[in-house]
This record gives sequence, structure tokens and C-alpha cells, in this order.
Amino acid sequence: METIKIQSDERIQFIDITDRINKILERSEIRDGIVVIFTKHTTTALMINENEAGLIEDVRNCLERLVPNLNYSHDRVDNNADAHLRAILLQTSLVVPVRNSRLDLGTWQRVFFIELDGPRMRNVLISNIRIE
Ligand code: ZN
Repeated sequence: METIKIQSDERIQFIDITDRINKILERSEIRDGIVVIFTKHTTTALMINENEAGLIEDVRNCLERLVPNLNYSHDRVDNNADAHLRAILLQTSLVVPVRNSRLDLGTWQRVFFIELDGPRMRNVLISNIRIE
């Protein structure tokens, strides 16, 4: 199990962590299996999709339309209910096949960490599991 630290610098930000995960997998003695990627926060998410600027803008706009910034009950606590609600619509963990010590992704697939209440320092767990 390894932890990667991610420093976001915007409130909502899509950060491609594919290369960082591949570097961890290349150092591991496990060549084939699965990797579990888990974000340890209530206002972040993970996503697999294409790294194309227009699409990222579309996903961001979609999340903002699905969860507009209204007057939520949780805002009385720390004023970030929209970030929690957006995170709930997304995923906190991903399972990805590993082959030859690399993520076995499709041609256009990339792994994204999604910051929903930045800027902050974040921790994502990477756990590689051998499958014979
Ligand atoms: Zn909160």
C-alpha cells in the first residue's frame, strides 16, 4: 500500500494521476493483478475518462448543473455542501487491471483525481494485488 500526496490549487480541479500510479506499479514486484485506488476524503473523487480539455470542461459544467450552489444545511457547518454532494455522485475508489506492471487501460482512458473543494493537500491510497 502506498499513499500519493496531491496538492490541488483550484476549488474544482481534474488532475491526471495515471503516470504517478504507473511509476508505483513499475517499482512493485507484482507484474499482473489489480490495483485499488482510493481517495480518503469526503470532497474528492476518482474518475476514468479521456484527458481532453473540452471534455473536462463539460464534466465540470455537468457537475455544477447537477449540484448548483444553493443554500444547503451542511453549509452552516463549513460551507462546502456542494462539494460533498458532487463527490457522492462520483466514486471514491477505482479497481483497474494491471498487466506487465502497468495500468491496463483502454487507448483513451486516463485516471483522474477530482478535487471538489480545493485548494488542499490530499491523500490517495494505491494498493496493488497479485492475481495468478
Ligand atoms: Zn463539509
